Amino acid sequence: MTNNIVPISEELLTMKKPVISIKSLSKSFGALIASDDITIDLFEGEIHALIGPNGAGKSTLIKQIAGDLQQDTGEIYFNDEEVSHLDVVGRARAGLARSFQVSSVASQFTALQNTMLAVQGKSNRTYGFFKPALKDSSLVDKAYSFLSEVGLGKRGNIIAAELSHGERRRLEMAMALALEPKVFLLDEPMAGLGASGSKDLTIFLSELKEKAPILLVEHDMEAVFALADRISVLVYGRIIITGTVDEIRNNSEVREAYLGSDDA
Ligand code: ADP
Ligand code: MG
Repeated sequence: MTNNIVPISEELLTMKKPVISIKSLSKSFGALIASDDITIDLFEGEIHALIGPNGAGKSTLIKQIAGDLQQDTGEIYFNDEEVSHLDVVGRARAGLARSFQVSSVASQFTALQNTMLAVQGKSNRTYGFFKPALKDSSLVDKAYSFLSEVGLGKRGNIIAAELSHGERRRLEMAMALALEPKVFLLDEPMAGLGASGSKDLTIFLSELKEKAPILLVEHDMEAVFALADRISVLVYGRIIITGTVDEIRNNSEVREAYLGSDDA
């Protein structure tokens, strides 16, 4: 070994790479500052939860990452590439999909057909285009594997309109999986699910993060505390703190601004 080779430190080797890196992002609606100089990273393998009161700007941030909204200033890097110039479809193609919503369920089709369309959308690298390929048997196996993964393996032939609310959400998850995104952007996936549905989804998301990191906006604090590797707290468009579950739980500013110091 020559003496000018500097050994890579342990720290550097274990350092995680940001998949999404947002730098000084700002967005206003008229006089209202919805995103106020936001800097945030999503690392490989993590669930990064974004919490904050209603109107704090959580959805606005997700929309800017997905490309539904253009930021006023700041940058959004996806795997080190600035993506602000790409529209929603371009970002989805790159693997930056706003899951659960990019692929909307067609009520008149079966669970299997919906999932096949998502698989097909992925293989065509286009989204939402319906082609008369629903009978293509090569797609069936793949679609069933995604349905099985979300526990709908035996419900493939049910018309989506006849699925329960929880099953429909699972179908959305199967379709999200079929797109094989590199990042999951989830805006309140627990909304409207009952206690058992939320519990199921919590388990599912804890497994999902092995496939791709998750930026998770969620009101259900039990779910957030159970799932998140890191949490950022957004208040009036500003991130007031990013930390681990314990750091967020025990932070007095957070308790006052958001969790309620009176334990409400
Ligand atoms: P959250 O998801 O945290 O509840 P939002 O991101 O939906 O908050 O909204 C943040 C703020 O921006 C709110 O005050 C909301 O009324 C406002 N807002 C969101 N979208 C728009 C829009 N398209 N035009 C004007 N104001 C908006
Ligand atoms: Mg919202």
